[in-house]
Amino acid sequence: MTDHDTLQPLQDVGEGFHGRTLLLIGCEVSPPTNHLLAVGAQTCPSREQQPQDYIDDLRAQGALTFLAHPHDRGVPLAKLPSYRWDAWPVGRYTGIEIWNHLSDWSGNLGRLPRAVRGAAKPHTFLTGPAPETLALWDAVGQARRVVGIGGLDVHDVKIGRSPLQLRIFPYPYAFRTILCHVLVPAWPETPEEAKAILLSSIAAGRLFFANHAMGDARTLSFRALNGSGAEIAAMGDEFAAGKKLHLALTSPKLADLRLVRDGQEIARTFGRDLSHEVQAPGVYRAELRVRRGRRLYPWVFTNPIYLR
Ligand SMILES: [Zn+2]
Repeated sequence: MTDHDTLQPLQDVGEGFHGRTLLLIGCEVSPPTNHLLAVGAQTCPSREQQPQDYIDDLRAQGALTFLAHPHDRGVPLAKLPSYRWDAWPVGRYTGIEIWNHLSDWSGNLGRLPRAVRGAAKPHTFLTGPAPETLALWDAVGQARRVVGIGGLDVHDVKIGRSPLQLRIFPYPYAFRTILCHVLVPAWPETPEEAKAILLSSIAAGRLFFANHAMGDARTLSFRALNGSGAEIAAMGDEFAAGKKLHLALTSPKLADLRLVRDGQEIARTFGRDLSHEVQAPGVYRAELRVRRGRRLYPWVFTNPIYLR
């Protein structure tokens, strides 16, 4: 959990296991624009600093940093500002929050037909990551690994009084929507060891993010296989191009499966498996969409496998 400009919950609550759930406390540096999410930090830098300075400050602490909702559109109808990232160029961050639940939701509020449908069926409201954010991710990935994550940005805002109170995303609802699935080599029982493994796996890009409301994505796999079918790379890996290999995507359920290289679709099928031979350098990642009725809804986005 990352509250705005404070790590006070480290003192008030502390990190550790609550039942089977490991709670880690981070912060979100939150000036008017250029929000930065940090996990693994000891102090939350001042939001008065320049963005590159708070990125470097957190990096020096060993924290992971993510540009938050970089293309947030705000809500023009409600005169809410855009919390976009505008301090370009910027570098040395761990990754980018590619899909932000609040940003996706609020950005669609001004479109009335969608808003009416969304009120009746909240799962139909999300349109997926902003195309500009995906394009940014594909572009910066050409030079180095940039970890993509999904986030909730949930505030559980209460409007009005009971029984007519409107709550914009209570936690029990939100935690069943956009989730990051991190692939860890082991899951130790001590919180310190579990935290270390979790953060190093995230830093290595071994994760995908999915809207759980569209289906449980936990058994998804996206790997690079050699000619004999042995795994030679997983999500987040960077390795030398040259030999032919297969990118293999397996979905837990029927979906629209797409492979993307440097932002361009290179293979697509409707099914549970997609295998595609590649050899050229590129940033390769997968997107999955679920069909409901005649529409496709965004479901899963993997981190890339990088051929250099
Ligand atoms: Zn924010």
